[in-house]
Amino acid sequence: MNRASEPSFRESVDLMFNRAVALMDLPPGLEEKIRVCNATYTVRFGVRLRGEMRTFTGYRSVHSEHMEPVKGGIRYAPSVNQDEVEALAALMTYKCALVEAPFGGSKGGLCIDPRQYDEHELEQITRRFAYELAKRDLINPSQNVPAPDMGTGEREMAWIADQYARMNTTDINARACVTGKPLNAGGISGRVEATGRGVQFALREFFRDSRDMAQAGLTGSLDGKRVIVQGLGNVGFHAAKFLSEEDGALIVGVIERDGALVNDEGLDVEAVHQWIVKHGGVSGFPDATFVENGAVVLEEDCDILIPAALEGVINLDNAERIKAPLIIEAANGPVTAGADDILRKKGTVIIPDMYANAGGVTVSYFEWVKNLSHIRFGRMQRRQEEARHQLVIDELQRLDDYLGDAWSMSPNFKDKYLRGADELELVRSGLDDTMRISYQSMREVWHSRADVTDLRTAAYLVSIDKVAASYRAKGL
Ligand code: GLU
Repeated sequence: MNRASEPSFRESVDLMFNRAVALMDLPPGLEEKIRVCNATYTVRFGVRLRGEMRTFTGYRSVHSEHMEPVKGGIRYAPSVNQDEVEALAALMTYKCALVEAPFGGSKGGLCIDPRQYDEHELEQITRRFAYELAKRDLINPSQNVPAPDMGTGEREMAWIADQYARMNTTDINARACVTGKPLNAGGISGRVEATGRGVQFALREFFRDSRDMAQAGLTGSLDGKRVIVQGLGNVGFHAAKFLSEEDGALIVGVIERDGALVNDEGLDVEAVHQWIVKHGGVSGFPDATFVENGAVVLEEDCDILIPAALEGVINLDNAERIKAPLIIEAANGPVTAGADDILRKKGTVIIPDMYANAGGVTVSYFEWVKNLSHIRFGRMQRRQEEARHQLVIDELQRLDDYLGDAWSMSPNFKDKYLRGADELELVRSGLDDTMRISYQSMREVWHSRADVTDLRTAAYLVSIDKVAASYRAKGL
């Protein structure tokens, strides 16, 4: 077996889709309608930089418009190509359906190494790309709403939002044209951490069910579980940080571009992150063993493997050697279709990308709703909630006084109970609810159907069913 026989990313997604639809009873033709990508727009534009005209190639692919707007990030990477953008757009369709975010699927990409350009140059390039897309309604609050992805973040989203607003000066909903914006440009609290937070909530839900743990040969809780994370970017960093700081997991390995860090006692994720920001890589970090060929650390012994970087990192070359009994796909498409077959036969449990990294688009949905309603979550009810809580506290206080030493309120109870939820708490609560409910919908299919032996197939079944229902409702 070798990489030559490995299908492309888009073929991988299609193969996984086909495996699932073979177990469904869809009307003739609908299967193909759902699988194919509706349209991919390619744009080549020039920007005058450093005294010369430079040409850039960008894409925006729309996979399914069964619901509009369509949604999905914009990626900046030199490796961006049409096949990748189409695969990612398809995953967005299934992801949004699974977590019930009312969007179709889309994705964008620009072939660029953002590290080669300074901030001003990136702004010029981003604004020009946004102009090209907005001109064709490929950025539009009611039709197509981009978001951050690899190589982009809040800063790029703010430029895109501003560019759209300049081109649509009377659109009162202009801010809803893109999500993942900074708070002061119409963003929402908790969007930056959202995908990593979603990975944490997904794992918590997995560890709530002994049947799921048994499938992976695991017991107990997240506390003390040994975790290896590949990629300490926005998603990997937040997932690793929350799992280690809040759930007691040990991050025993971190794989980055320049190599990997290993420490059986558990790494200080925040310190590793600071080191990367300062030195551009993990090499030289004092409290760990450095492994130059980082990829081999994917094959190390651990309880949970979190690929949070590129697609295709677990493939026909290394799948057989992967020891982790549980893989959670924080990245999009980190396991190829061939590797998926091998791992499934080995009994490895994979929490699939379309669910595992859906935290980002879920909170994007909240941001879009916030922008359209023009009001911050919690603004109307927070103080009223506090006033009602005060009534309960007053009554409890009377009881406390009356009972003397026999009973008193627990320390901190007053403060904790009194405080009404702010936007961040509401966002986290909405995300937790979404991750739990969508996991439960996969779990139900996984455990109730003898022909479904893995979570990925279960995820496809749930989401394709929802997409099909929406086509049927339209009479298509
Ligand atoms: N780029 C992220 C993803 O792949 C977020 C998409 C969004 O928020 O629309 O899911």
